[in-house]
Amino acid sequence: MSGAGEGRPPILSMQDVEVVYDGIVLGLRSVSLTVSEGSIVALLGANGAGKSTTLKAASGLLSAERGEVRRGTVHYRGRPIAARTPSRLVRDGLVQVLEGRRCFPHLSVEENLATGAFAGRPSRPELARAVERVYERFPALRDKRRTAAGHLSGGEQQMLAIGRALVGRPSLVLLDEPSMGLAPKVVEEIFLLVRELHAREGVSFLLAEQNAAAALAMADSAYVLENGSVVASGSSADIRAREDVRGLYLGERAGRRARFRDRCRPADRAPERTEGPVQTRGVGAAASAAAD
Ligand code: ATP
Repeated sequence: MSGAGEGRPPILSMQDVEVVYDGIVLGLRSVSLTVSEGSIVALLGANGAGKSTTLKAASGLLSAERGEVRRGTVHYRGRPIAARTPSRLVRDGLVQVLEGRRCFPHLSVEENLATGAFAGRPSRPELARAVERVYERFPALRDKRRTAAGHLSGGEQQMLAIGRALVGRPSLVLLDEPSMGLAPKVVEEIFLLVRELHAREGVSFLLAEQNAAAALAMADSAYVLENGSVVASGSSADIRAREDVRGLYLGERAGRRARFRDRCRPADRAPERTEGPVQTRGVGAAASAAAD
């Protein structure tokens, strides 16, 4: 795969990862991907494709949802993550920002930021310095440091969620659907912040997004997931140039505009069971089925 980060060592690599929830529901069939040091990698796909599950498999957070990696391997900085707890991984620099922003609504902005340092157990002065660094990056949060997080706008909550991850000085951030529910202009601002963090602080990102156009504009490379498997991968430019991806994920169709999301029926989200034959599908098979 080409793009920034090419030639650099992988910070994260997943090989043939299968994930099962509750011992029976298939979350991922087979996902292999690499995030090189200092790169931004986009993970694209429709609802239920397996984006969040991929991030949780990498951050060790699956067990909180009764999920497990049943096959395959995940390595962070060349070492398997299997033997490390999620808090150990946070201390080692791997942080996930969960979908839906997940701030503590009754805690102030500053208290929320402090929770981001929990795993590292910093001293008070260290914590104050870490929080100050976040305020330098996100001045809007400083202005609202005493405000309860539940009273922030959606965009501010997303900034807070990312800011909280930064308190621990991560090397790799797994960012789940940062654009969800936000106005296009706010999405632009959030993505600009991510790009700055990447450029100035060298943070690597694995970014799960349904907003493929915005994600590809920012990422060096991308993987497309369908039904728990990678069905396409390459540099962002290559992925953007692919007709099938353009039609299904970038809302472009010959003669008319189409959004993949609009074409999905709720049935596409139904969990699959692990028994039975595993189907191999190309890019768009799920969308075609939905359109039938
Ligand atoms: P979305 O964009 O809607 O968040 P996604 O691409 O992130 O979708 P996942 O949330 O990873 O997809 O879901 C992949 C599959 O795993 C789906 O079939 C989903 O129903 C199933 N799944 C996800 N979380 C759980 C869970 N906690 N328990 C059982 N099944 C789950």
